[in-house]
Amino acid sequence: MKFLSSLNKKNLSGKTCLLRVDFNIEDELCKELTNKCMPLRLRAIFPTIKFLIDNKAKILILSHRGRHKDICAEKNDVLRKEKFSLELFVGVIAKETNQKIQFIDFDSIHPSDVFFGKIKKSINDSSSNIFILENLRFSPYEEEDNNNFAKRLASLGDIYINDAFSVSHRNNASVTAIVKFIPSYAGLLLEKEIKILSETIKKLKKPFIVILGGAKISDKLGLIKNFFDKADYFLIGGGIANTFMAAQDFPIGDSLYEKDMVLVAKKFLKSKKIILPSDVIINERKILDIGPETIKKYSDLIKEAKMIIWNGPLGYFEDERFAKGSKAIAKAILKSKGRAIIGGGETTSLFNLKLKTHNLKPNIFLSTGGGAMLEFLGGKKLPGIKVLNDF
Ligand code: ADP
Ligand code: MG
Repeated sequence: MKFLSSLNKKNLSGKTCLLRVDFNIEDELCKELTNKCMPLRLRAIFPTIKFLIDNKAKILILSHRGRHKDICAEKNDVLRKEKFSLELFVGVIAKETNQKIQFIDFDSIHPSDVFFGKIKKSINDSSSNIFILENLRFSPYEEEDNNNFAKRLASLGDIYINDAFSVSHRNNASVTAIVKFIPSYAGLLLEKEIKILSETIKKLKKPFIVILGGAKISDKLGLIKNFFDKADYFLIGGGIANTFMAAQDFPIGDSLYEKDMVLVAKKFLKSKKIILPSDVIINERKILDIGPETIKKYSDLIKEAKMIIWNGPLGYFEDERFAKGSKAIAKAILKSKGRAIIGGGETTSLFNLKLKTHNLKPNIFLSTGGGAMLEFLGGKKLPGIKVLNDF
């Protein structure tokens, strides 16, 4: 794999770099984008941007936001732009970099020479050094991993940089196919994620605890399976806990759970390693948080742990009334001496946005990956990383 960090002014000066980042940040976390208050995925792209600017390169930022099918489902043009446009990020990036940003707007991409020729011309003619291309998923080609589209995207620059660890588990045109058509590098963020997470897998320490919450159990099953022998405990909360409770025939009312996963959950329940909440907070027939007894039990286990992996809030934490469990667990981790790896847009927001802990101790690492982190730690080869090794 080639790393951007190995390049310098000689290789980069005057070059146009296609920089794939991940702006797929939950709406809730984008409500107030200020330089003091930035979700992790946004904050994490600046080292690479600054490196490129210092080395006199031009940057064309590529990203997606939302799924193509959801973008298409929004028929109202104004609302669609409001929800899915990347223009939202222009102001905060301009401020943070002190640069003029040119936004390249469109409603849909046509994979034609004329369409891409125009974009290329506007980049060449501009005095700006940073460009943001509108949401790649406004067209279907991105998620199709379309070669023709990737080739044209590649034609916009001289080198390609993947700095979107959190999308590297997806076969998308601007993550995988593009690498076939242009010299490609791992950006500073991707390099850091690979380094730290690889070390984590190699140097597991015990007691080792995996904390899992969030909405979907199917996302996290890989991690449970892959760490089943290694981990001492899986502390479960959130929608996943509800699915496990449904598997125990516990009445969960209208709580969020995954019906299709109940049978799988039943199998895991046979193990004593799976720890479920012993008390929960219920509102309008829904289980929305873990209760005080569970907080205490989980915090005690965290205190003793030498190794912690966490993905997924333990309750419906967007509502402050149900954020107590997730916040208490975050605080227990902040106090612990164990090595902690925390991933996922919403889980990491507990640290940098809700608790405003910006300078974390070196034993705690916030990963920008959610699904990507789980797959990486689970031992899977992520397609976006694999192609960087192959080409
Ligand atoms: P991350 O973004 O950190 O990877 P996920 O996307 O997997 O985390 O899950 C976060 C979502 O799960 C949040 O929107 C949160 O409100 C939701 N959630 C967690 N527990 C519950 C619950 N008990 N009921 C409803 N939603 C929940
Ligand atoms: Mg999420």
